[in-house]
Amino acid sequence: MKRVLVTGGAGFIGSFLCDALIEQGREVICLDNFFTGSKRNIAHLLGNHRFEMIRHDITLPILLEVDQVFHFACPASPVHYQYNAVKTIKTNVMGTINMLGIAKRVQARILLASTSEVYGDPQVHPQKEDYWGNVNPIGIRSCYDEGKRVAEALMMDYHRQNHVDIRIIRIFNTYGPRMAPNDGRVVSNFIIQALRNKDITIYGDGKQTRSFCYVDDLVDGVLRMMECQNFIGPVNLGNPNEFTILELAEQILEITGSSSKIRHLPLPEDDPTQRRPDISLAKERLNWEPTIRLHEGLLKTIAYFEELLSQGLIEPQ
Ligand code: NAD
Ligand code: UDP
Repeated sequence: MKRVLVTGGAGFIGSFLCDALIEQGREVICLDNFFTGSKRNIAHLLGNHRFEMIRHDITLPILLEVDQVFHFACPASPVHYQYNAVKTIKTNVMGTINMLGIAKRVQARILLASTSEVYGDPQVHPQKEDYWGNVNPIGIRSCYDEGKRVAEALMMDYHRQNHVDIRIIRIFNTYGPRMAPNDGRVVSNFIIQALRNKDITIYGDGKQTRSFCYVDDLVDGVLRMMECQNFIGPVNLGNPNEFTILELAEQILEITGSSSKIRHLPLPEDDPTQRRPDISLAKERLNWEPTIRLHEGLLKTIAYFEELLSQGLIEPQ
């Protein structure tokens, strides 16, 4: 039985990862400071004797003995990572050094949850892993995208210099139940607005694109990458079906039967115009590709937010 550490385990993706690892019979230590994560996401695991929750900020060192580290701790939505930009950089730099320190000391394999944001506003479409990106180093997204680029560099240098066993994945926009209702991401925003019959806030003309991956598909890819031999990545994990933000809004309006109207607001600075993963490498090396279509994933996500709203668990806006 492998003992694994999941940093950011009380967050959206991390909590589904904890579920899957417990399901596999692992012993799971979840490390989280609850900045954007929530106790609700892991409440159902607390009684399990193979699950342990430690409230800890990864920018501070910690000693733990584990076989694998899934390193997911970092605020992920622009609203949350820009809230305290310096802290976001510290989490990516000092936090990643601390987790690499654990991996080095106990010879654990460590997987970094990096992001499609390392490609910035890409000039190559779709994005392959060998594209170096088009990132504004001094912009309002740089605490996150440059932060993750440094985290990737640290992973590679600990690998080359100290022979740490690493894996790097680049996650593209992922959605599903347990996304924080207040994180300002497009899927959660539109669903909550639609369910409340409030205006759907489209930033810019809505022609910018994203490719949305349902969380179950993503977690499957993460687990395959951790177990894959002789392949450290980086590898793109995401759904290659690309939609405009306007198309996403239309699908959500249709499913919810909402009477919301569309309202256009200014496009945030450095907002990427298009994004779609080339997943040939994941197909070839991990035999992985997403299976859940946007419509199906949206149905499950909408049901989750409907439940939260009915229980009064989403703050009025
Ligand atoms: P999330 O905000 O729900 O989860 C992040 C978790 O990390 C939260 O539980 C938060 O409390 C915790 N955390 C943040 N800073 C911490 C710190 N200093 N110490 C300890 N814990 C800390 O976000 P998510 O969508 O689940 O994203 C998880 C990871 O996946 C992140 O690293 C993110 O960059 C990456 N990612 C996500 C997406 C996506 O679309 N969701 C896309 C690309 C990459
Ligand atoms: N977006 C939008 N309305 C919202 C929230 C986001 O039009 O209420 C747009 C945003 O400008 C971006 C896209 O949706 O073009 C995805 O935004 P999100 O914050 O979800 O993710 P990211 O920009 O990091 O891919």
